[in-house]
Amino acid sequence: MSTMIPTVTLNNGLEMPQVGFGVFQVGNEETTAAVTAALEVGYRSIDTAAIYGNEEGVGRAVAQSAIAREDLFITSKLWISEMGYDATLEAFEDSLERLGLDYLDLYLIHWPAPQNDLYIQSWKALEKLYAQGKVRAIGVSNFQAEHLNRLISATDIIPAVNQVELHPALQNREVQAANAEHGVITEAWSPLAQGALLSDETILGIAKAHQVSAAQVILRWHLQEDRVIIPKSVTPSRISANLELFGFELTAGELDSINALERDGRTGPNPDQFNG
Ligand code: NDP
Repeated sequence: MSTMIPTVTLNNGLEMPQVGFGVFQVGNEETTAAVTAALEVGYRSIDTAAIYGNEEGVGRAVAQSAIAREDLFITSKLWISEMGYDATLEAFEDSLERLGLDYLDLYLIHWPAPQNDLYIQSWKALEKLYAQGKVRAIGVSNFQAEHLNRLISATDIIPAVNQVELHPALQNREVQAANAEHGVITEAWSPLAQGALLSDETILGIAKAHQVSAAQVILRWHLQEDRVIIPKSVTPSRISANLELFGFELTAGELDSINALERDGRTGPNPDQFNG
């Protein structure tokens, strides 16, 4: 069975699937198996990163699948230690090689690492890769409003995407507002808070009312707020369940009660301080 996944239109006209598949903390071999399972049930967008150490595993699954390259949407990310103009150009080629691809759909600066002050130079390298047709869209990750505003005022291309930690316990509203102001798509990482909210009573109550799972409620909340999501799972039943989001709709009241779960519950590093 495969599910039709809606797309969002990026600021350069490229269509990006609204639900993609994350592979953080998954080893190479398991990544090949998980991505293969994901492609079988209908995922077309895969989110990896150089630092995950599993670009080869993603590449193997892509090579083994019968899906045409143009029907896939492959994202990777530039790690902090490889920031800077020349280093970024090299890191991109290394990622392409590990993935076994000749272009990426989306390449992101993984973290702003503001103390290193290299994200502007790195972005200029991404602009060059984009101009050369080696990547179909370029974006950032973990950029706070301040970093995004500075990048936009100092460079030519506005990021297509800002991928940030976002789930009911950390809704990152300031970043979402800055993204929206500039037409940047907000993509939620750890959309399920790595499972931490799956026994929350509010979420479970809503799940019961719709006869769906807690994970499906949280993912549906993201979709109704127009975000791109990249849930990760290595469990086949969850991989397919995380795509079954289109047969129910949360009410305005239910969305409000999920919004009320905000508690500044960051699970990952703080982007203002993290330098790798
Ligand atoms: P998620 O919020 O996607 O949660 C993944 C966890 O939830 C896993 O333990 C998984 O278990 C479990 N899970 C998944 N689906 C279900 C379900 N239906 N029911 C119950 N449990 C479920 O966490 P991630 O941190 O992995 O974030 C998603 C992706 O975002 C990453 O894989 C990565 O691609 C990206 N990311 C980007 C970052 C960045 O800095 N740009 C940082 C962190 C993540 P199991 O696998 O055992 O089934």
